[in-house]
Amino acid sequence: MKNQNNFSRRKVLALGGMAAIPLLVPDLCAAAQSLNIGTKTLTTLSDGNLVLPVSFLFPDVPAKKISKFLAENKMNPERLEPPCNLTLLRDGKRTILFDAGAGPNFMPSAGKLPETLEAAGVAPETITDVIFTHGHPDHLWGIVDDFDEIAFPQAKLHFPRTEWDFWRADDTLSKMSEARQTFAIGAKNRLDAMEAQVVLFDAGQEVVSGVEAVATPGHTPGHTAFVIHGNGAGDPVMVVGDALTNHIVSFQRPDWPSGSDQDAEMGAKTRKSLLDRLAGEKMTIVGFHLPNNGLGRVERNGNAYRFAPG
Ligand SMILES: [Zn+2]
Repeated sequence: MKNQNNFSRRKVLALGGMAAIPLLVPDLCAAAQSLNIGTKTLTTLSDGNLVLPVSFLFPDVPAKKISKFLAENKMNPERLEPPCNLTLLRDGKRTILFDAGAGPNFMPSAGKLPETLEAAGVAPETITDVIFTHGHPDHLWGIVDDFDEIAFPQAKLHFPRTEWDFWRADDTLSKMSEARQTFAIGAKNRLDAMEAQVVLFDAGQEVVSGVEAVATPGHTPGHTAFVIHGNGAGDPVMVVGDALTNHIVSFQRPDWPSGSDQDAEMGAKTRKSLLDRLAGEKMTIVGFHLPNNGLGRVERNGNAYRFAPG
């Protein structure tokens, strides 16, 4: 595992120097925000942020088109630095974490969850459940700590079955672009480490009481969002994971193929139907990479949508 981690880090460094850019670490305490869903409390926790070249994110949108769009929206034309927002849900009995963050071996700007949890007064041993949206490094790799041990020793680790099968299949490595092969190798060894604690689930299922799994494929084959129900008290909230990754592009141009989606066409289809549903139901969302600690709603904006923080 140690060699594996070193290998992963070298590969990440080779990806256009992503990890070599100086970074701002957000204020951890300011990054936490809570809301109530009936008797449950949802808190967002920062894992830091990613640093991604724009060329990696939109390889199939003409460069001129994307630069013009980003400039019009006052976004950096070279790189994006999306935040990483994890969701903690407490109901008095369970302490549930959605995704596990990037851990120590992905990017120096991410993997801050252990510090954020400590600042929030949550001991890793008290996490009863970790529910995963998908198997990308910024969501999965933090399940293993500095000592290659599972970071949440008492937790049931709930993983989408389709996603589990995809990352564990023998031919997954050959389906990934060269730049993504680290993702496949990294996922496989984290999933191996999780085996004794894992519980697989299917979309449509209630993963734990009041948490419904919603299939949102495209970003990855088994990508899953979750509706947290208040059980009759309080409006539901959806943890959208990476079905919506950017507060401008995903909302204004949901049809643009995204380089971060494993299946770009399916990713766009999922985005459009999800945005339509969320705008119609006026449901609060937590977006893993959205601003305002990920919290907001989807509003219609002409033929497209806008992210309304709040
Ligand atoms: Zn992500």
